[in-house]
Amino acid sequence: MDRSAALTYIASVLVVVVVVLLPPPCASDDRFVPGKPLSPGNTVVSDGGGFALGFFSPSNSTPEKMYLGIWYNDIPARTVVWVANQETPVTNSASSAAPTLSLDNSSNLVLSDSDGRVRWTTNITGGGGAASPTAVLLNTGNFVVRSPNGTTLWQSFQHPTDSFLPGMKLGIVYKTRAGERLVSWRGPDDPSPGSFSYGGDPDTFLQAILWNGTRPVMRDGPWTGYTVDSQYQTNTTAIVYLAIVNSDEEIYISFTVSDGAPHTRYVLTYDGKYQLQIWNGSSSAWAVLQEWPTWNCDRYDYCGPYGYCDITAKPDPTCKCLTGFEPASAEEWDSGRFSRGCRRKEAVHCGDRFLAMPGMQSPYKFVLVPNRTLEGCAAECSSNCSCIAYAYANMSSSRGRSKGDMTRCLVWAGELVDAGKTGEEGLGSDTLYLRLAALPLHHPGRRTEINVIKIVLPVLASSVLILLCITIAWLKTKGKERNRERHMNVFLDVTSTAGEGNSVQDFELPFVRFEDISLATHNFSEACKIGQGGFGKVYKGMLGGQEVAVKRLSRDSQQGMREFRNEVILIAKLQHRNLVRLLGCCVEGDEKLLIYEYLPNKSLDAALFDGSRKMLLEWTTRFNIVKGVARGLVYLHQDSRLTIIHRDLKAGNVLLDAEMKPKIADFGMARIFGDDQQDANTRRVVGTYGYMAPEYAMEGIFSTKSDVYSFGVLLLEIVTGTRRSSTSNIMGFPNLIVYSWNLWKKGRTKDLVDSSIMDSCSPDEVLLCIHVALLCVQENPEDRLPMSSVVSILENGSTALPAPSHTAYFAQRITEMDQFSDNNHNSEYTFTLTSIEGR
Ligand code: ATP
Repeated sequence: MDRSAALTYIASVLVVVVVVLLPPPCASDDRFVPGKPLSPGNTVVSDGGGFALGFFSPSNSTPEKMYLGIWYNDIPARTVVWVANQETPVTNSASSAAPTLSLDNSSNLVLSDSDGRVRWTTNITGGGGAASPTAVLLNTGNFVVRSPNGTTLWQSFQHPTDSFLPGMKLGIVYKTRAGERLVSWRGPDDPSPGSFSYGGDPDTFLQAILWNGTRPVMRDGPWTGYTVDSQYQTNTTAIVYLAIVNSDEEIYISFTVSDGAPHTRYVLTYDGKYQLQIWNGSSSAWAVLQEWPTWNCDRYDYCGPYGYCDITAKPDPTCKCLTGFEPASAEEWDSGRFSRGCRRKEAVHCGDRFLAMPGMQSPYKFVLVPNRTLEGCAAECSSNCSCIAYAYANMSSSRGRSKGDMTRCLVWAGELVDAGKTGEEGLGSDTLYLRLAALPLHHPGRRTEINVIKIVLPVLASSVLILLCITIAWLKTKGKERNRERHMNVFLDVTSTAGEGNSVQDFELPFVRFEDISLATHNFSEACKIGQGGFGKVYKGMLGGQEVAVKRLSRDSQQGMREFRNEVILIAKLQHRNLVRLLGCCVEGDEKLLIYEYLPNKSLDAALFDGSRKMLLEWTTRFNIVKGVARGLVYLHQDSRLTIIHRDLKAGNVLLDAEMKPKIADFGMARIFGDDQQDANTRRVVGTYGYMAPEYAMEGIFSTKSDVYSFGVLLLEIVTGTRRSSTSNIMGFPNLIVYSWNLWKKGRTKDLVDSSIMDSCSPDEVLLCIHVALLCVQENPEDRLPMSSVVSILENGSTALPAPSHTAYFAQRITEMDQFSDNNHNSEYTFTLTSIEGR
C-alpha cells in the first residue's frame, strides 16, 4: 500500500451507491423532542440541510421493510450512511398503525413497530433520566441525544454502520479494549449486518484490520508513531486529512476534508471493499477516489509465510520472498500461486546476525515488548534464540499522549506472515530486522578440518542432492503425466463433438478438482454469482488464496462445449497483460468449468453504459483502455507464437482490473491461423451483431481485419459513451457508425464526444481516436488499419492519416430473437438474411 493507503489503514472497492426508496422530504426541524414521534413520511433535517433522518425502505423489500436511517439530504442519489435498526426492520402497511420513533423522558430513542413492539432503542443507562432531553441531527450527520444542560448522552457517530464520515472516530479505548468498527451491509439492498468489518485491532491497538467474520482479509502494518498530519490530494475539489490520535485513553483514526469540499465518506461495501467516495455534483454521482485492497497481494497472507507483497514493484505489485528465503514450491510460485510462501535457504542459529530491511510493512502476530530503546529491543531479540525478527519505533512524536511508554519494540517468534514492502518512510513503514544465517567463524588451528568441511562436504552433499532431485523430478513428472493423461482423456472425450478447431496437443493448464471449486464458490451460491454469459454463470471465489472468477458452463450447452475446448486450448497458450489469464479448468462428469483471474471492475460495457459508473471512466482512463485493448489485439494478431482472430471483440468482452486496465476476455469464438494464412471462411458465423465486419457477417470471411472492424466499433462506443445499436443520442441515424460517419463528413466530429468526458478529455486525442475508429470500420478490409499501426498512431499521434472512406455496417433484420441478442449475447447462424449498407 502507498502512504495514503497506509494512513487510512486498509480498504477496498466497488461503487455501491445505495439507492433506497425514500419518502419525499418534507419541511422539518433538525431536532426531536419527547411527545412528538417521527413516523414514515416525516424527516428530521440537519440545520444546514446536509443530512436527513427518517424511515426508508431498501428497494427490493417485500413486504415493505422499513429502517430508520440517516442519508445525505442535498444530493439526488439517496445514500444511507447510518441505520438504527439494522437487524430489526419495522413494517409499514396501510392496514395497521405506522411505526414510530420517539424520544422518551428517560432520554432514550425508541423505535416501535406498528403493533407497538419496541424494535430498537438507544438503551442509555446511567446518564439517562434527564428531564426534557433533545435529539438533534447535526450537519455532520451525527444524531445526538442531549440533556438540557447540553451533555451528550448518546450519538450515532459512536455506533457506526458501514460509513465513516468526517469527524467520526474509529478506534479503541485502552482500558476496555472496546471500540467502534464499521460493519458492512449484507447486500446492496439489505442493511442487516454483513460479514465484513473494519476497525482497530483490540489485541495490539497498533493496527487496523479488515475482517471477514473473524478472519483478517487485509491489514495495515503496525503504527509507527507518525501522527498523520500528512494529507493527500485526491483531486482539485477536495483534500482529505487523516489523523491517528493516540491519547492517554484511546487510539483512533479520524479524518476531515478541506473547506468547501463536497460530501466525502469512507464506506465498507457489502462485498468487503473499503472505499473513499466523493460526491461529484457535475455528474451527479459518487466517484471512488481510492479503494482497497488494491492488488491481490494486498490481501492478508496472500504471499504465504515468509513471503511479502512488494508494492514498489510497478506496475504490478507482486509477491517476493524475504531475504534469505526461497519459494516453498518454485513451480507454484512461478505460476502465481503464493499461498505456500517461502522457506529458509539456510537454517538460523542463535548467534546469527540481523539484516535490516527498511521500508517494510511489519508482519502480523508480533509481541510488543514495553519500555525498550532500539538497542534494548535488538538485545531482547538476539538473546532469545526463538526470536527471528524485530522492529522498533519511537512514538514520542505522536500527539495527544501526555504520559506512558512511547517506545514500540515488536518481536516475532513464529512465522512471519503478511509482510509488505512499502518502500516509504512513515506511518506503517518499518525497518524490519531479520535474523539470517551468518558465515561460519574461522579458527586458525582448525584450518584443514574447516577446509574439509567447507569443500568436501558441500561437494558430497550437492552430488547426493542432485541425484535426489533428479529422481524426485522424474517421479513427479511421471505422476503428473499420468494425471494429465487421465484428465486429458476426459477432456478429449467430452469434446469429441467439437467441430472445426485447434489441436489439443501440448497445452499446459492446471486441472482443478470440482470439489475445490465448489468449496471456493460456496457451492456456487447466488451470493458468489457475478455474471451470466451466453454459455453459463460466472462466480467469484477464492482458490489457493487468490480471487478467481469461475465460469461454469451450463450442462446442456453443446455449443458451450466447443467454446470451452477452444478457450482452454487457446488461452492456455497466451500470456499478455491485456488478455485475461486462464488459471485452470475442470472437466468432471457433466461439469465443465474455467477458472480465470478475477477482475474486480467487471466488463467495460457495465461501466461505459451506466449513468453513474460512467464517470469512473474519465478520458485518460478511456484512452488507456483503448490503447490496452489495441495492444492485446496486436499480440493476438502478430506478436504471440500464433495468429489469432478473436471474432467476438466487444465492450462486454473487455474486463477491467482494479486499476481499470483492460483485459480482453472470452476466447470461445477465437480461431488460430497458420503462418501464411490471411483469412478464412466459415459457414458458422459467430459474434455479436453490430460489431461484426460486413464481409464476415455476410460471407463468413474473417481475418485480423474483421477484429480491426470490431475494434473500430468499440472505439466509437468508448469515445461517444453510446452503444453501437443505441437509438437515442444518434439523431435518427440507424446506428452509431452511420451517425459518426455523418458527423465526420459534416466536420462536426466534436459533437460525437461523450458529454461526461468533455471536461477531462484532450481534444486532439479524442479526435485522433474517432479518426482511427472510422479508418477501422471502412468497408474494404484492406483499407482498414492493421492493429500494429493503430497502436503506433494512438501512442505516438499522427498528422498524416488518410481520410476514412466507405464505412460500412451489417444490418440484420430485427427478429424477436435479435432483440434479445443485442443485449450482448452472441449470435450464431448460417448467413442468409442480411443486407449491407454503406456510408
Ligand atoms: P457472452 O458469453 O454471451 O459473450 P459475456 O461475455 O458477458 O457474454 P461471460 O464471459 O460469461 O459472458 O461473463 C459474464 C459476466 O461475468 C461478465 O460480463 C463479467 O461481469 C463477469 N465476469 C466474467 N469473467 C470475469 C472475470 N474474470 N472477473 C470478473 N468478472 C468476470
